[in-house]
Amino acid sequence: MATINLKSLKEDEINEFINSFDTVLSDCDGVLWNKNDSIPHAADTLNAFTQLGKRVFFVTNNSTKTRDEFVKKCHMLNFIATKDSIVSTAYLVAQYLQDIKFNKKVYLIGSSGIAQELDRVGIGHIGLGPEGIISEDFDFSHIKCDPEVGAVVVGFDLHFNYLKVLKAASYLNNKDIMFIATNTDEQFPAGTNIIIPGTGSLVKCVETCAERQPIIMGKPSPYAAKMLENNYQINPKRTLMIGDRANTDILFGKRCGFKTLLVLTGCTQLTQLEKWKSSGEPKDHELLPDFYTNTIGDILPYIKN
Ligand code: PLP
Ligand code: CA
Repeated sequence: MATINLKSLKEDEINEFINSFDTVLSDCDGVLWNKNDSIPHAADTLNAFTQLGKRVFFVTNNSTKTRDEFVKKCHMLNFIATKDSIVSTAYLVAQYLQDIKFNKKVYLIGSSGIAQELDRVGIGHIGLGPEGIISEDFDFSHIKCDPEVGAVVVGFDLHFNYLKVLKAASYLNNKDIMFIATNTDEQFPAGTNIIIPGTGSLVKCVETCAERQPIIMGKPSPYAAKMLENNYQINPKRTLMIGDRANTDILFGKRCGFKTLLVLTGCTQLTQLEKWKSSGEPKDHELLPDFYTNTIGDILPYIKN
């Protein structure tokens, strides 16, 4: 399968590419910003798409913030954004539970973003915060499972610990209790030798202990796309997914039938693409984007209003 360097295209081919989609789904961290610093020309590029009449959505696996908090961050970094344009995993968890008319409590391993989104849809939750540093002589017989709990949700949690895994797995021992994970990103790019564990590492730990697999809300699971198709009638054939991570963003785009563009400002690097290109493994070819380019700003000169 061909993966095309956007910069190798002639101007009329780039114009054709830009005219081939009317919805843009953009990953956030690694494409638009790195932590709190925007990536040069990212805001101008997405805003130019919006001004051209394309619909732009911010599709992030980051579960730590509410949609309102993401809108604030977008505005701070000069992106045109509304609450409706944010598709974040904390929001998706709450939306999913509301859609299935979930009427029990959540045992939450996660951050305040999920807690606030659950509050918004009136779903009770327990477990948030730094509970449970235990000593070697801890008496496990005192642990009680709350009979009101109907789901375990695992997202990013800086207070992740042994007791939380124990409680989550104990709830999940009851097969009627749902198991939901926000996303499976293994690590965050640190740009150094330090490895920063992502939510996927926490999810794997609970999965291993509970001997169960979760339903995954974020990319590459197509749940976010279903929500967009149902609520905003997006047409997959005329949708572009822009991402920096092949095993979440690009795989998501390909599974959903979107066009895919990888930028090299985040996780997946060109050397990795070259390896996948020359590999005979179909699972490696699944990770190859239709197009790649150094940075999202490379498209800006070709967007004409
Ligand atoms: N999860 C957490 C907790 C994060 O902080 C981030 C990035 O900041 C991500 C996931 C990845 O987000 P994205 O899908 O926007 O790259
Ligand atoms: Ca990213």
